[in-house]
Amino acid sequence: MTTPKIRSAVASLPAYVPGARIPDGVQAFKVSSNENPYPPLPSVVDAITEAALTVNRYPDMGNTEMTDALAAFLSTPQREVSAERLAFGTGSVAALGHILSTFVDEGDEVVFPWRSFEAYPIVTSVAGGKSVRVPLTPDHRLDLDAMVEAVTDRTRVVLVCTPNNPTGTAVSHSQVLRFLHRIPDDVIVVLDEAYVEFVRKDDALDALALADQFPNVVVLRTFSKAYGLAGLRVGYVIAHPDIAAGIRAASTPFGVNLVAQVAVVASLRAADELNTRVDALIDERTRVWTALRELGWDVPPSQANFVWFPTGTRTEELAAHARTRGLLVRPFAGEGIRVTIGEPEANDVLLELAAEWLTQ
Ligand SMILES: *Cc1c(COP(=O)(O)O)cnc(C)c1O
Repeated sequence: MTTPKIRSAVASLPAYVPGARIPDGVQAFKVSSNENPYPPLPSVVDAITEAALTVNRYPDMGNTEMTDALAAFLSTPQREVSAERLAFGTGSVAALGHILSTFVDEGDEVVFPWRSFEAYPIVTSVAGGKSVRVPLTPDHRLDLDAMVEAVTDRTRVVLVCTPNNPTGTAVSHSQVLRFLHRIPDDVIVVLDEAYVEFVRKDDALDALALADQFPNVVVLRTFSKAYGLAGLRVGYVIAHPDIAAGIRAASTPFGVNLVAQVAVVASLRAADELNTRVDALIDERTRVWTALRELGWDVPPSQANFVWFPTGTRTEELAAHARTRGLLVRPFAGEGIRVTIGEPEANDVLLELAAEWLTQ
């Protein structure tokens, strides 16, 4: 029996590789998906529990309460972020899909760094676009000059992942400013800031300031990482009101579910508590990174909640070895291993392994 033909752009997709599952009965640390190791805050669990009693109803289609709470959260005395500049998705990957549906026609080009977030080529193909991958520099950073040069008159969208997943490096504000001046103003530039809460550097990117200045800039963020809501799937964009309205129009109706909306509002209220956890993870990142450098590992400085081991051809062997010790890491065959900064016990296992790998 034959089945209807799947579009070739979809049939040829690489399968999305989810983080490895923890085998039953094995005490293991899942450090493969850049999740937050802390369980949800009690105040967030309470809000979720209460919302569960009303899930026979559709969520608010306009996401009103969540939108207003986020707009207020993002606004400062110097800079107001109005609700009309926001759009949401079932995770920021879905929001990115909506951005591409809004701007990419069949055969249009989407430029992005590579190695970078593995969802980029997938969402590009599904939208009918053509992926243009721009290699990272030898020190695992985005090559913004090469990305500018990769833009053609077919380019509709450029994706800037900072900090870059999986290498952890971040571009600076002045670098992105120079870059934006060189990108045609009819090309959308997505600043994917999935890890923005973990950035601690001089000249840090102020993406919202750039979104005010450049109407073609779309900022993409998520509640999955620092805010610890990966299982509820909420991401959002901040853009010019006209652009945001287009993205909302292309979005799945009722995409962000009722429980997730309530959890976002509760999490924004608990931002101080959540930021304390982020600070603790950053302290662990510093401890791990410093120890790795002392061991002699060439690990790029990470501004995210993970570190990158450029292990090349040894990648799969070392990832398999880590698994035997309960550490479930994310290998990229032939390139390197990404390891999430987790609870201190997980990080300790990583440091033991990293020492062993050097002598094996
Ligand atoms: C994890 C991640 C996301 C977020 O995905 P969600 O769909 O919001 O969970 C987006 N961009 C990058 C680069 C990521 O690493």
